[in-house]
Amino acid sequence: MGLGLKIANAAARLFYPSRCPICSETGKDDISVTPICRDCWDTIERLKGGVCQLCSKPGLHPDVTICGDCYADRPRVSSLLAYSVYEGALKEAIHLFKFSKIFRFSTPLGKLLCELPIPEADVIVPVPLTRKRLNHRGFNQSLLLADKISKHSGIKLSIDLLLKNRETESQTLLNRDNRKKALRGVFHINGNVKNKRIILVDDVVTTGTTINECAKTLLKAGASDVNAVVLARTVDKSYNSNQHKIT
Ligand SMILES: [Zn+2]
Ligand SMILES: [Zn+2]
Repeated sequence: MGLGLKIANAAARLFYPSRCPICSETGKDDISVTPICRDCWDTIERLKGGVCQLCSKPGLHPDVTICGDCYADRPRVSSLLAYSVYEGALKEAIHLFKFSKIFRFSTPLGKLLCELPIPEADVIVPVPLTRKRLNHRGFNQSLLLADKISKHSGIKLSIDLLLKNRETESQTLLNRDNRKKALRGVFHINGNVKNKRIILVDDVVTTGTTINECAKTLLKAGASDVNAVVLARTVDKSYNSNQHKIT
């Protein structure tokens, strides 16, 4: 840490001591990730071991590259890379970024994404929000993250190549089949994607239905390849993150 940042950190601790939402301690601020303390931030670990290449589901046998769900219902993306699981400090950070609108989290969260092996591509495309949702939230969290990857990799960012036409029901309330139905036809292309290799960027992926509907739309319009990069993947309760395997 440079001297300037050390001074800024000390000043932040002195004047704005905050309570870490994870460990509840005060006075451990790190200016780059406050109110999350550095100790809790450092618990965010990149997924390792057996991880499905197509949906980033962790906990697979190390020799297995594709999970049972993806075998049964093949995703449209060529790969989906998630940095970690949606829990603990990463979940909190995404909430602070997305719902509490603490925009500065785009920097440390973007840094995590840039640690991933970003596939070669022609364009980076954030998973879009509808205009209504965008007006309500004021920003698209996926766009801010996509911008970080674009600056890091030099791959062009397109902010409006893929658009979302209408609002869909809360995805968390629907099962996989109904999610698919609800999303059918909600995205459209605004430009030329012919023979382009695309990277889709989102913050959180659950079943992957949104990402895959985006990929389907892009491939139908002539894109040659679609890969996805996300911060976090939700996992069910049987997943034990300490051992990185399903128990
Ligand atoms: Zn903490
Ligand atoms: Zn999978």
